[in-house]
Amino acid sequence: MRAVVLNDDKSVNVVEVDDPQPADVALVQTQAAGVCGTELHILDGMLEPPAYPFVLGHEGAGVVSYVPDGTTNIAVGDRVAIYNFIGCGRCHWCRTGREEVCRNLRGQIGFNTDGTFRDVVPVPVDNLIKLPDNVPFEDAAILSCSGMTAVHALRLSNVALGDSVVVDGVGGVGLMVIQAASAAGARVIAIADTETKGELARQAGADDSIILDDKGYDVVADKIRDHTGGAGSDHFFELVGTTASMLAGIRGLDRHGSAVIIGYTGQELHINPIELVLSEVSVRGSVAAAKQDLETAIALAGKGQLSAQIDTRYPMDDVNVALDRLRRREVNGRNVLVW
Ligand SMILES: [Zn+2]
Ligand SMILES: [Zn+2]
Repeated sequence: MRAVVLNDDKSVNVVEVDDPQPADVALVQTQAAGVCGTELHILDGMLEPPAYPFVLGHEGAGVVSYVPDGTTNIAVGDRVAIYNFIGCGRCHWCRTGREEVCRNLRGQIGFNTDGTFRDVVPVPVDNLIKLPDNVPFEDAAILSCSGMTAVHALRLSNVALGDSVVVDGVGGVGLMVIQAASAAGARVIAIADTETKGELARQAGADDSIILDDKGYDVVADKIRDHTGGAGSDHFFELVGTTASMLAGIRGLDRHGSAVIIGYTGQELHINPIELVLSEVSVRGSVAAAKQDLETAIALAGKGQLSAQIDTRYPMDDVNVALDRLRRREVNGRNVLVW
């Protein structure tokens, strides 16, 4: 079969590899795999694969072609999405549905075990989630990264009907947060750096947008208050992750507001704790998602409430074109490999 591999000279190409020989895992014939910024981090050495050549790809969906004996919940022919955290299944966090912070992670597909950019992917049965017929493979593939990440962040923040939600950043994850928050009955305000992205945010369900001007984030907390009757927002979701953007979001919160940091850069958060103390606001981090979040994301997609913004579909042979366009920031939404 064929696979997209990263070589130790950092080149990426399509090669013939051996078919996987499953013992106790299922096989999925890949139909779609999203091309994500994480792939660039791996290419750039920020994330180090365990060995070369390494099969890229941590987002995927396809058709089950093999299941181990005794499997009852998944069958050959099922359409599935792949959940990429392979938790230990035994630690406190796995047992309470929080595999994303497993203490003894056995692997993460596309990060430290070979990924989804290949014709057939071996996956533990428990990492497969069946798709409703109306959810396309390419949407499912993208839900298995940005979609589940958005659902997870909303769940951590307990977003409720009627809450006000500020989303900072209108990229792949930001657009999913906007859709999911809107589906949860929240009033959504998106922060965007261009009018075009503000329009994208409104199309995704944002009620309002704040377009950054030449004053940048310095005036954003005041603008959030303007948009919330002077009170500030109940929730802030951070996808940008600069010092200025994080401070603006936290300072734009109402009392008891909650800031969730998803996106980050090398920049630090500096704040006098008195700002958190007096208004009893909380700041927390959110990393990827638990399996239940991918299940929720897929259920929302089945109801038409969550969909992927796809820029371009590429065959495996054009993976370098997809990666180069991502690096040049030419991609609106996500690029996806299709079979
Ligand atoms: Zn991803
Ligand atoms: Zn665990």
